[in-house]
Amino acid sequence: MLDDEKFESRNKVSRIYVLERKILRINFLLSKSITAYSPQMRPKDIQQIGEELAIKWDDGSESFMSLESLRRHCPCAGCKGEVDVMGNLYKNPDQPYSVSAFRLRSVATVGGYAIQPVWADGHSSGLFSYDYLKRIAAGEKQ
Ligand SMILES: [Zn+2]
Repeated sequence: MLDDEKFESRNKVSRIYVLERKILRINFLLSKSITAYSPQMRPKDIQQIGEELAIKWDDGSESFMSLESLRRHCPCAGCKGEVDVMGNLYKNPDQPYSVSAFRLRSVATVGGYAIQPVWADGHSSGLFSYDYLKRIAAGEKQ
């Protein structure tokens, strides 16, 4: 009787173990497929064309977005706010953009993963990751 219980509990443990192995395997396969479909692309060329920013990626694709849209998507804490560990958003009240807010003074690449635009109104704290830029550009096409 006691042996049966022992056997039963050992059996449960091994079933949990097998399940955990399966989950690990699925996670591994998922992470592999994600990296396979989103290789890290880098910009080969970044140019302002009229009122747009044009980015040519090293895989030959291109992204276009208006400077206004780029500025409105600024991800810095001052523009988008900051979320604390409890999930509360702290954000400055929305301020109207001046005309110079949508004029680009320069663009620098940062750390091989982002660009940092310097706007004519002096704002420059937003780091736009390459992935984020592509999402902004994709959103504009729709
Ligand atoms: Zn900002």
